[in-house]
Amino acid sequence: MKRYIGSNIDVLFDSEKCIHSGTCVRGLPNVFNVKKKPWVNADGERAEKIAALIETCPSGALQYILKTSEESK
Ligand code: SF4
Repeated sequence: MKRYIGSNIDVLFDSEKCIHSGTCVRGLPNVFNVKKKPWVNADGERAEKIAALIETCPSGALQYILKTSEESK
């Protein structure tokens, strides 16, 4: 499990679970971009948008931890 730290949200990724559906990279390309290193930018969108996208990950490879702030309500 990898952890990508953002200001308002941390994104957790388990590469062994990922089924490469592409849901994340299509949904929020500013956050999930396999051409970048690291491929997850947890500050690329508002935390609540990232959280909502992660809920749609079909494999459960992505998880998140919202941090307490105005943004993550
Ligand atoms: S949405 Fe989930 S399963 Fe699909 S590519 Fe992204 S991490 Fe992998």
